[in-house]
Amino acid sequence: MQKSWKISGLIRILILKNKNFKIMKHKKFNLASYKYLIDVIKNSKRNLISFNQYFLGKSGVILRHDIDFSPTKALEIARLEHNHGVFSTFFVMLNSKIYSMQDADNIKAMKSIICMGHDIGLHFDPSVYQGDENVLNTVCQNECNSIEGLLSKKIEIISFHRPEKKFIGMKNKIANRYHSYMPELIEKTKYCSDSEGKWRFDDPEELINNKSIKNIQLLTHPIWWTTPSNLSPGEKIAFFLKGQDESVKKEAARNCKPYSLYREKQIQMKET
Ligand SMILES: [Zn+2]
Repeated sequence: MQKSWKISGLIRILILKNKNFKIMKHKKFNLASYKYLIDVIKNSKRNLISFNQYFLGKSGVILRHDIDFSPTKALEIARLEHNHGVFSTFFVMLNSKIYSMQDADNIKAMKSIICMGHDIGLHFDPSVYQGDENVLNTVCQNECNSIEGLLSKKIEIISFHRPEKKFIGMKNKIANRYHSYMPELIEKTKYCSDSEGKWRFDDPEELINNKSIKNIQLLTHPIWWTTPSNLSPGEKIAFFLKGQDESVKKEAARNCKPYSLYREKQIQMKET
């Protein structure tokens, strides 16, 4: 009797473990897990839609990627999605201090992403500009013009990089374009993000399978999925930046909390 209790207890633990392992939130970030996420979306039979389609009244999942570190890493995600018939929007920065959009490899990567049928938006960092809304509109318009010129592709949507509160739910368009924090999006879509290299709030799988949720904006950052999955988020960035100039590392730390904490820890260890 006691033995059978022990066995059934063990089976329950194994079932629970297996169940947890299957949930997206418990999976390591790598391309295999990203493929699993693609399958979850496909199996849900939800539409994958662009931001423009959403604003025209279509419902479904908007798959968004903010490129904070590397267009060539973004290409890996774009390729995986394309190979599995999935469509998304990649937001690229013009004035990043971590990657250059003058670099031929980065231009090539973005052009390949476009050729696969994905959409492109501008990832705009308003913090580098001082001024009122008119100034922001002008500089954002200039950035859009530059990206459009570089990639021969019209930019119709903006996402803000590390937005201040005032940009979240901002009613006005910017540079006469929709942005990803417009009230129509914030209020009527469920937002889920892998910021800081983890699902801090909701599990995307649970949201996607929750039939009472009509629209989802799912934001992922390619860097978390394309660096070794046994590393912590801070270590992943350190791995990616190995050999780069100190100025680039400092800029990355300014932009990425897990990496900034990782660097602080490294400095402390050196001092002791
Ligand atoms: Zn960003």
